[in-house]
Amino acid sequence: MKMKCPVCGKLFDAENNQWMPFCSKNCKIIDLWNWVHEKYSIKVEEIDEEININEEDKDDKIDSLWRNRKNGQ
Ligand SMILES: [Zn+2]
Repeated sequence: MKMKCPVCGKLFDAENNQWMPFCSKNCKIIDLWNWVHEKYSIKVEEIDEEININEEDKDDKIDSLWRNRKNGQ
């Protein structure tokens, strides 16, 4: 099944895509960032630092932010 990525507009194969509903990890992060900027514009710099502290923890951090986003809506 082909889906259109809401971030970049690219058509991608929805099967075997762990970054649904986005085409890639990058677009998921971009969308997350857009949301973070809207919701926490004051704290963006803090979050930025937090995410950049440890590359290995980055995925976990993104995932937890992502979960927060879902819960918050
Ligand atoms: Zn995309």
